Amino acid sequence: MKQIHQIYVDGEFVTPHGTETFDLISPLTNLKTGEVVLGDETDTRRAIAAAKEAFKTFRKTTVDERIAYLGKLHAAVSKREEELVKTMVEEYGGTLQFSKASARNAIESFTNMIQVLQTFEFQKTVGQSLVRLESLGVVGIITPWNASNSFICNKFATAVAAGCTVVVKPSELSAAQTQLIVECFHEAGLPKGVFNLVNGLGTVVGAEITSNPDIAKISFTGSTFTGKIIAKGAVDTMKRVTLELGGKSPNLILDDADLQTAIPAAVFGAYMNNGQACIAPTRLLVPENKLDEVNALAKAAVRQVQVGNPMDEQTHVGPLVSVKQFERVQQYIRTGLEEGAVLLAGGGGKPEGLEAGNFVRATIFTNVRNDMRIAQEEIFGPVLSIIPYQTEEEAIAIANDTNYGLAAYISSSDRERANRVAAQIDAGRVVINGFKHDPQTPFGGFKQSGIGREYGVYGLETYLEPKAVLA
Ligand code: ADP
Repeated sequence: MKQIHQIYVDGEFVTPHGTETFDLISPLTNLKTGEVVLGDETDTRRAIAAAKEAFKTFRKTTVDERIAYLGKLHAAVSKREEELVKTMVEEYGGTLQFSKASARNAIESFTNMIQVLQTFEFQKTVGQSLVRLESLGVVGIITPWNASNSFICNKFATAVAAGCTVVVKPSELSAAQTQLIVECFHEAGLPKGVFNLVNGLGTVVGAEITSNPDIAKISFTGSTFTGKIIAKGAVDTMKRVTLELGGKSPNLILDDADLQTAIPAAVFGAYMNNGQACIAPTRLLVPENKLDEVNALAKAAVRQVQVGNPMDEQTHVGPLVSVKQFERVQQYIRTGLEEGAVLLAGGGGKPEGLEAGNFVRATIFTNVRNDMRIAQEEIFGPVLSIIPYQTEEEAIAIANDTNYGLAAYISSSDRERANRVAAQIDAGRVVINGFKHDPQTPFGGFKQSGIGREYGVYGLETYLEPKAVLA
């Protein structure tokens, strides 16, 4: 049994004031694997006070010093890459393939920020005056469970680059992964108080971070629902917010696309991270006159999707993180059937032989209309909706007919045409022909997918406050 009974405040692992515990449950077996002691408001205030004190000196660090700290963090996290992968698979049920990529992303956060710092100008002449970009202050970082350490590392790396100090509140479902990453950060030996972490509930620790006047900014990744609560609470003390929220990303297959490649890729893509990815392309938009061909290809592709033990290198879809998440996805599958969508593959219940864990059958609905709930709401499980369209114009209209706007995908054999379509899509990131990640480009959403951007220069700027000095 894992016992995670300490939080990290002012450079030390300490016993929290809070005494409530939360059970850690394996998504593979639904058996209890350990317990985490939850911090409370007192713990959160202590962590914020430590970060506030540390900020006084950390804000004065030079760019070279920050680069050196990021280098130490990179070295410390790199050393434990294998454990990071293993813990993510065990605790969360992410597949080995996905967890490896996620751990790489976490590690590369530090080198990516070093690269940004090498050319970033913290001081510029604008008009006749000087503009200095100054460290914002203490940043509250609130993260979800679906790629926990990757989010924490990216947000913390950006804070360090900006000369900010942090208090992290991870998801209570990620306690083991978080424990490991904090051990890495501790080993990196940054000045005490620069990094602090309080395990606890969103409504307790998260709420204190949201209301506390000593927090200057919140960087949040999670649901749109919770993002709105945080944004509303943050405005009372005029905190800056960066919110990376939900998505219902369209995948536009234009009529000149190579379906033999694009459709299998679309099916596997929709199931990335067991379908628990905000950027997952869950709405597959296809020309109506090719619907039969698409259905046949999708059906053939889904037969290749292996649902099972996430430790197995061949597995594409592991168990969902919790029983709650499993039930939520089951409800959406029932909703799809009630709404009249045609079930092409999968459906309700668990795959045979996988009854113990939170496994969902790899599911595809076809003949979906974009106004159905399964096309409008984020399901966060392995459920793909195929939506037919008649013209390119209609495809663009359907793609944009959503409250979300995080990512979009386009397949076409004509690059210029794809670019023309991309220009008309309301999404923070549009990917052409495949699934790519470019860590220096901004990441974040249009509309209710969020506020602000992360990664690279755009990400760094959101941790800085411009000050014009007019002489
Ligand atoms: P999920 O429950 O699927 O993880 P959420 O968006 O609810 O998605 O959670 C993301 C993070 O936000 C978690 O760390 C969670 O504990 C935290 N959280 C939940 N509710 C609140 C809240 N009211 N205030 C601040 N943080 C919250």
